[in-house]
Amino acid sequence: MKTLYLVIPCYNEEEVLPETARQLLAKMEHLMAQEKITERSRIVFVNDGSKDRTWELITQLHRDNPIYQGVNLSRNRGHQNALLAGLMTVKAHCDMTISLDADLQDDIDAIDEMVEKYYEGCDVVYGVRSARDTDTAFKKKTAEGYYKVMKLLGADVVFNHADYRLMSRRALDGLESFREVNLFLRGVVPMIGYKSDVVYYARKEHFAGESKYPLKKMLSFAWQGITSLSVKPIRMIMLLGSLIFLVSIIMLIYSVIRYIMGATEVGWTSTVVSIWAIGGLQLLAIGIIGEYIGKIYLEAKERPKFIVEQYLSDEN
Ligand code: UDP
Ligand code: MG
Repeated sequence: MKTLYLVIPCYNEEEVLPETARQLLAKMEHLMAQEKITERSRIVFVNDGSKDRTWELITQLHRDNPIYQGVNLSRNRGHQNALLAGLMTVKAHCDMTISLDADLQDDIDAIDEMVEKYYEGCDVVYGVRSARDTDTAFKKKTAEGYYKVMKLLGADVVFNHADYRLMSRRALDGLESFREVNLFLRGVVPMIGYKSDVVYYARKEHFAGESKYPLKKMLSFAWQGITSLSVKPIRMIMLLGSLIFLVSIIMLIYSVIRYIMGATEVGWTSTVVSIWAIGGLQLLAIGIIGEYIGKIYLEAKERPKFIVEQYLSDEN
């Protein structure tokens, strides 16, 4: 029998936390009764600098039942870093982890199947949404488009997979050796390798609270995903640049010929248009290159991705 740790990042989740804790406890007790996981298995909530009573609730849960543990981050660092903080904090104590959102939009019944796949020898099991019925049409379309763009740009991401996944201790050790600061878990986990599989589930409505990913955050997340995984945008710009250069040479030859034939006109329109076009393209190119340089700048700092303030574990 192996030990399972559930890792749940929480940011201002006081509304949903009690219900989430109850449902997860039932799930864990069920798995323990079936002798799928050991009694040492735990449910770990990571408090990502919440402004509400989330940490008080976690502390209370831990006091009432030591199956609940808490990791308190020193401040808000965002979903990806909070998740990583949780995974790295518990890594030494368990054989496998499953990460999931606090709002339980991801069907927790998929946990059984994930654990099953772990025993079949998988180091990573991806939870994949079979339908996105509960999302708005807008979110559905943008998500679909995003995955397609990612694929086109050469980033290896699992379609319709959020951060609901099982990872073995070995896979977590692998994850730890990725030192980048601009961490995008969905893109990095497939790079770890090992045997992996997927489990399908239906995504549910938020049963309370609301999405903490407004459009602005979603766009920044998508952009972060692309620029931290792929250098294709840079190549595309180089290609575009060479293409435009080629066109300008052709234009040059053409105008020389026209000049020799004595048919030149003072082409004000074409001059202005080309100034604008080339100026615009240059700005765009510089902007995208700047984005990558910004990333290099951040990586060079080697800032810590998270700082754990307190870990409520079996020892305290
Ligand atoms: N979350 C976090 N830090 C943040 C924002 C979100 O730890 O800065 C957590 C949040 O509590 C939830 C998970 O990340 O457990 C996913 O957030 P949410 O459900 O709002 O995202 P969505 O389901 O809309 O993609
Ligand atoms: Mg959610």
